[in-house]
Amino acid sequence: MNKETDTTADVRNVVIVGSGVAGLSAAVYAARADLEPLVFEGPEPGGQLTLTTDVENYLGFPEGVGGMELIQNGKDQAERFSAKFTHGTVENATLAERPFELELSNGDTLQTRALIVASGASARWVGAENEDELMGYGLSTCATCDGAFHRGDDVLVIGGGDSAMEEALFLAKFADNVTIVHRREELRASEIMADRARDNETIEFRWNTELEAIHGSQEEGVTSATLVSHPDGYPAEKAATGVDVDRETVDVGGVFYAIGHTPNTEFLEGTAVDRDESGYLRTRTDDAGRATTETAVEGVFAAGDVADPHYQQAVTAAGTGSMAALDAEAHLETLERTEEAAFEIPL
Ligand code: NAP
Repeated sequence: MNKETDTTADVRNVVIVGSGVAGLSAAVYAARADLEPLVFEGPEPGGQLTLTTDVENYLGFPEGVGGMELIQNGKDQAERFSAKFTHGTVENATLAERPFELELSNGDTLQTRALIVASGASARWVGAENEDELMGYGLSTCATCDGAFHRGDDVLVIGGGDSAMEEALFLAKFADNVTIVHRREELRASEIMADRARDNETIEFRWNTELEAIHGSQEEGVTSATLVSHPDGYPAEKAATGVDVDRETVDVGGVFYAIGHTPNTEFLEGTAVDRDESGYLRTRTDDAGRATTETAVEGVFAAGDVADPHYQQAVTAAGTGSMAALDAEAHLETLERTEEAAFEIPL
């Protein structure tokens, strides 16, 4: 392999895992600090913004900006300062020794002095009957990717947060009817998003209802879905404990999941990087009690949704991405000083 393109040669200063808005922001900062970061784009290059249409709340774009455009601009900006991008996924990390060692999906290994984890979070699945078989065949986690296939259909959107509202609003452009299925009778979504969905004549709500099964086949797609409901909410949980619930099968041509995300941290399993009960990475506060992006392992930093179960905004991901790069830079300076001190000959 040509040394220019051999990402496994030498010990890297900084490797960034993930190329969503957090990874890109970290790449811009690290590259401008001459750290020559290497970015692993991962299985979903560009992250979740590539699945979004317009981003209206990212600072600096009064008319909004396309998710794809924002990501492409971020990548161009990082490359302008010589950040390197590579397709590929980090499968395993050995963080007990220095430098850290990363094992890639093609079996290669590489070493790095600092690691920024910006691997984001992936869409959660409901656990309904037949979802494995029908995912991609009328069942989807991405309305902007698959919505246009449902022109004239009746579709269900599962969830009650901002994602569910956004998915439903997008689907309303194509589908005849969009039903948001929510497990209780109060939305989690922000008022502005909830109002937009409520005001849309194509969208209706089914409260205190959950999806139990999806019917259809890979040949004909989704044809119907079985819903359970209970006036006190959380019907699936109740059905599982033997409580009587209402059960109805409705004809639909598509089902969209929008019930939140699970952080992508599998490659850190077996390491000392600390995670909360949902798998989100925990970051430390410094001696003065201020937030940092450093994880429980010195030299490993976390940015974006992988460490953020709460805000999960593009702009906050960009913010923590820049923080992670600054923290990594400070870490590398400390390492350098320690290494220099170790070589100094005492007088
Ligand atoms: P979320 O806010 O966590 O909402 C997930 C929704 O799914 C909740 O209503 C939850 O019900 C429901 N749910 C969770 N597990 C379920 C299950 N097993 N079965 C049925 N329903 C289930 O996730 P999100 O909507 O993806 O949003 C994540 C973050 O991104 C939020 O901070 C949000 O504001 C942000 N976001 C913003 C925008 C925007 O501003 N345009 C767009 C998308 C996302 P409960 O309410 O009962 O818990």
